[in-house]
Amino acid sequence: MLKKNWILSVLVFSTLLFLAACGDNEASGTKDEDEKVQVVTTYSIIYDIVKNVGGDKVDIHSLAPIGSNPHEYDPLPEDVKKTTDADAVFYNGLNLEAGNSWFNKLMETTGKAGDDAPVFLMSENVEAMYLTTEGKEGEEDPHAWLDIQNGIQYAENARDGLIKVDPENKEVYERNAEEYIAELQDLHDEAVAQFEEIPEEERVLVTSEGAFKYFSEAYNFQAEYIWEINQENQGTPDQITRIVDLINERQITGLFLETSIDARSMEAVSSETDVPIRGKVFTDSLAEPGEDGDSYISMMEWNIKTIKEGLTQ
Ligand SMILES: [Zn+2]
Repeated sequence: MLKKNWILSVLVFSTLLFLAACGDNEASGTKDEDEKVQVVTTYSIIYDIVKNVGGDKVDIHSLAPIGSNPHEYDPLPEDVKKTTDADAVFYNGLNLEAGNSWFNKLMETTGKAGDDAPVFLMSENVEAMYLTTEGKEGEEDPHAWLDIQNGIQYAENARDGLIKVDPENKEVYERNAEEYIAELQDLHDEAVAQFEEIPEEERVLVTSEGAFKYFSEAYNFQAEYIWEINQENQGTPDQITRIVDLINERQITGLFLETSIDARSMEAVSSETDVPIRGKVFTDSLAEPGEDGDSYISMMEWNIKTIKEGLTQ
């Protein structure tokens, strides 16, 4: 009897040891999480492209929140901490994160301003377009991603950046990028086909900010706007008069409102011209998770459908 109890005790003790060992395994599972590449992206669209290429090898903290305008941002203490600890930072460039120099300042305070810092330009190798407003002619227009062919270039730059900081997973990043780029190529072809159905003289796209330069060049539109770039944010009386005159002259039948912009200026233009706002379009931000437009592909699908339907009514 005593002996049996002793055997039982040994069994119980072994089981406990075994469970403790399992516990250790779980702990090392958490350690794997920490070994993911720690990435910071400046806003939601870059976040999504890097996420598609990085898959489960990356852990991403995105700075400017969904629905906000990334031209200007005030980093929070958490952003400073995450950026300091980051293995890689991905930003748009082309003047996007230039309002109040928030991005450059953040790179300086977090020790990531040096030439060899792991900071990657998503618009590398994209052919820049420039602002046309008087006094701003030399400034790059940032909204390159609205041409899906540039989105493909962004995905390639995300891939190359991740391979640089995490060469061990080179093949994973290459495979993810290849699959993602194939989807983007299909979407670009679909956009071209859809927009070809809009009569050419009606391909005028009126938005608040002039964010559709690259888009218009790629898909053969004329881009019109109240103000050219979001560092301004509300239309001045002169800007409103200019666009109202243009809408009347060109007999434009539909206006579009960006999701990340205050609606008041476009609503004023709509009531002054009696031309309806045909829908919302995504420019500088994705939608909240779970909504239409919550990924780069989904936001571009939404824009294609909304613009096509809005201009063929
Ligand atoms: Zn913008």
